[in-house]
Amino acid sequence: MIPRSATGPCPCGGQPFGAPLSACCGPYLAGEGWPPTPEALMRSRYTAYAVGDTDHLFRTWHPATRPSGVEADPSLTWTGLEVVSVSGDDDEGVVEFAAHWTSGQGSSRQRGAVRERSTFTRRAGRWLYRDGVPSQS
Ligand SMILES: [Zn+2]
Repeated sequence: MIPRSATGPCPCGGQPFGAPLSACCGPYLAGEGWPPTPEALMRSRYTAYAVGDTDHLFRTWHPATRPSGVEADPSLTWTGLEVVSVSGDDDEGVVEFAAHWTSGQGSSRQRGAVRERSTFTRRAGRWLYRDGVPSQS
């Protein structure tokens, strides 16, 4: 399980590095403010997957592309996020990342990573996740 300790770093690793959940993604998950950049939004969505906050995933997903229901896979434990690159302009941003996971226990334990280039667009002043494609880097 991802610890929800107030003193440990945010599940996304912290921005700046090592920042606790309460000073990083926590306020966005709580609906106190909106992530100001595509990277901040991407980090908050990773953290939402890590803690199972599907409401945050839903509301940060562009209405044109979001599924009718958003589910976090309970068999995966998210163990870390690497932001590989960030690009874009004021209206559209692309964040390439690797999200690491483990699954199972003991000898059946597996680990892997989701690598994706996610595209974010700004709508009514708020960044939203639009879609993503697998990335090989
Ligand atoms: Zn965070």
